[in-house]
Amino acid sequence: MIDSDTTKCPKCGSSEIGQGKLSGYAALSVVGKMFSGSAVIADVCSDCGYIIQMKVKDPEKFKRR
Ligand SMILES: [Zn+2]
Repeated sequence: MIDSDTTKCPKCGSSEIGQGKLSGYAALSVVGKMFSGSAVIADVCSDCGYIIQMKVKDPEKFKRR
């Protein structure tokens, strides 16, 4: 896992980490639920562009019932 207080880019070592969001058509859909999905948050190195991690904004939507 990423150490949250000292997040550094594993590629270039920069600590200039920005946050991006995939939403709309790029959101991650729940399999089998056509209209359910969540935006995806990405931590991005703003020096080299490496995506350090991606996670969904609403993980509870992906729980199987
Ligand atoms: Zn980097």
